[in-house]
Amino acid sequence: MPFANGLGKPAGVRCVQLSDDGLCALFGQPERPAVCSSLRPSLEMCGTSQAHAIAWLSALERSTAP
Ligand code: SF4
Repeated sequence: MPFANGLGKPAGVRCVQLSDDGLCALFGQPERPAVCSSLRPSLEMCGTSQAHAIAWLSALERSTAP
């Protein structure tokens, strides 16, 4: 099923390309989705921990849900 985000998965579902240590298996590869390559991370988004980043993304998803 195609999804509008270009990742082929719904929001909140772990990407199949994400390794157990949190790295992208497609990083630097032409197969990496454009939405991923174009993302410019910021301190506001990432913070200093994974917990901060997940909380920020969860809030963004809630605020943009249909
Ligand atoms: S950056 Fe890599 S691991 Fe992250 S969503 Fe995109 S393809 Fe998946």
